Order: sequence, then structure tokens, then C-alpha cells
Amino acid sequence: MSTLADALNAISGTLPTDPDGSSIQDRGPFLRMIAVLLKEAGVPDVSETLDNLGEAGLADPASLAGTPTIDLLNQLRTSAPRVAPRVAATLRRLAEWLVEFEAGQADRLIDPDHSTQSLRDGLGSIKGIGRATADSLVLHALGRPAFPVDRGTYRILVRHGWLDLTADYDEAHDLIVHGASDRIDVLAEAELALAQIARRHCRVQAPACSGCPLEPFLPEGGAVEIDA
Ligand code: SF4
Repeated sequence: MSTLADALNAISGTLPTDPDGSSIQDRGPFLRMIAVLLKEAGVPDVSETLDNLGEAGLADPASLAGTPTIDLLNQLRTSAPRVAPRVAATLRRLAEWLVEFEAGQADRLIDPDHSTQSLRDGLGSIKGIGRATADSLVLHALGRPAFPVDRGTYRILVRHGWLDLTADYDEAHDLIVHGASDRIDVLAEAELALAQIARRHCRVQAPACSGCPLEPFLPEGGAVEIDA
């Protein structure tokens, strides 16, 4: 049977890179985390909104945590008019968490003394940040090996026989991180590719394997049935 590692290597790097990516990666960890949350919320121009927060003096955890949510929302809406109130509330809770546990210094999160698991657990404990979002923050903002497992990825793993249907979130997460040999670049690129494959080919109702980039990695006999 083809291995997940082979498949991840084959699909990573097959999609164009995010044009906004380098301008975000040049920022500090706090703004990188905000960028992840804004992207997840569907904000179209994340860089502009980060600049907006910087110009308003809200680019550090203490300032942002000390700003009422309604004021933060109004500030966000000057560059992202459709952003939802819950996004402002989540950004503020992240800032409060950093103030409480890291003395307001997001740089401390990239200290090797912080294990990847402790970062996943800590960020995942913040209201409004689920496990997959915490893993997205750890991977994209803090540069640690983590993977935000969504339903589409889970379907792909099960249909290829790499994961048991009864496996939980952490088992799926660990399988992918191990399959990528902890490589941040492979994990980030595989996330994009798997999301696209799930959307275009590996739909809930039935897999459309013909022409799918993962077709060469199917188990003998084809995709494992999970929809019955
Ligand atoms: S559509 Fe088929 S080949 Fe593609 S990921 Fe799903 S099960 Fe695999």
C-alpha cells in the first residue's frame, strides 16, 4: 500500500503559494497569529488589516487586550467591513491570554522551552479557538509541526486506509505530522492541497477518484467505503 508520506510529498508544492504570505511571515508572532485568525474568518486583505491595527497602536498584546471589543471591531471594520464581532472577541481573548501567561510577549511562544504540545494545548484552551485553529496558529504563525485536521482531510485519510474510521482528532493529527516528517513546508503545502482535493474530488457523498491527484495512492481495490 502507498504510504501517506509518499502522498504528502507528491501533493505538497503543487499549488501556487499565497501571494500575501511573505508580507505576513515578515511580521512578529503576534501579528502572524492575528493573520491566521483573520484569514480563517475570510478577511480578504489580511496585510492591510494588520497595517491598520499597527497604525491604531494595536499591534501588541497589551494594547489590544486593553481595548474594548466594540472599539476593536470598529477599528477592524475600517479595513475589513464585513468582519464578524466574534472575530474581534477572539483576537482580544488571544491578547488577554498572552498578557496573562506570557507577560504580553508573543515572542516567548517561539522559545524552544515551550513544547509544541504545550502550545497546542494552551492556544486550544482559548474560547473561540478550537483544536484545528490552534494547530493552524502553531503551524503558520509559530513555525512548529502541527496540522489543522478538517473533515475533508479526515475523509481522505480514511478512504485511503491510512486512518481508522474510529480514530480521533489527535490520531489524525499525529499521523499527518509524522507522515510529513515534522517538515513545516510540507505540512503547510499539504494543508492547502488536501483542502482543495477534498473540495474538488473527495466529497462527502462519494469520491471522484478519476483524475484526483491522490488516485495513484489508492489502496488495492479502490477507496475504502465510509459513507454506508
Ligand atoms: S477522491 Fe479518491 S483518490 Fe481522491 S482523495 Fe478521495 S479517495 Fe483518494
